[in-house]
Amino acid sequence: MTTIEPWLREILRCPSCGGPLRDAVGPLSGPELRCTRCSLAYRVDDGIPVLLVDEARDAGGGSASDGGPESGDDRLSADEPGPGRE
Ligand SMILES: [Zn+2]
Repeated sequence: MTTIEPWLREILRCPSCGGPLRDAVGPLSGPELRCTRCSLAYRVDDGIPVLLVDEARDAGGGSASDGGPESGDDRLSADEPGPGRE
């Protein structure tokens, strides 16, 4: 069983937003640290937290409350420049 030293977790911060991290369990039943602010989850390898944004998993669960990707898609298609429009 992998655990993280309490003193270590205390000083760890989310590299993305600087928010506090808390213990969580990943989709593969592995330990991970989840940011309580931006919901990014960082896996823990042999007790070593992998605090890399590139390696982080978005644990938000699709509960985005600030628009979401759908509106972005609409905007993209609307902005799509036609060929030879200059
Ligand atoms: Zn964060």
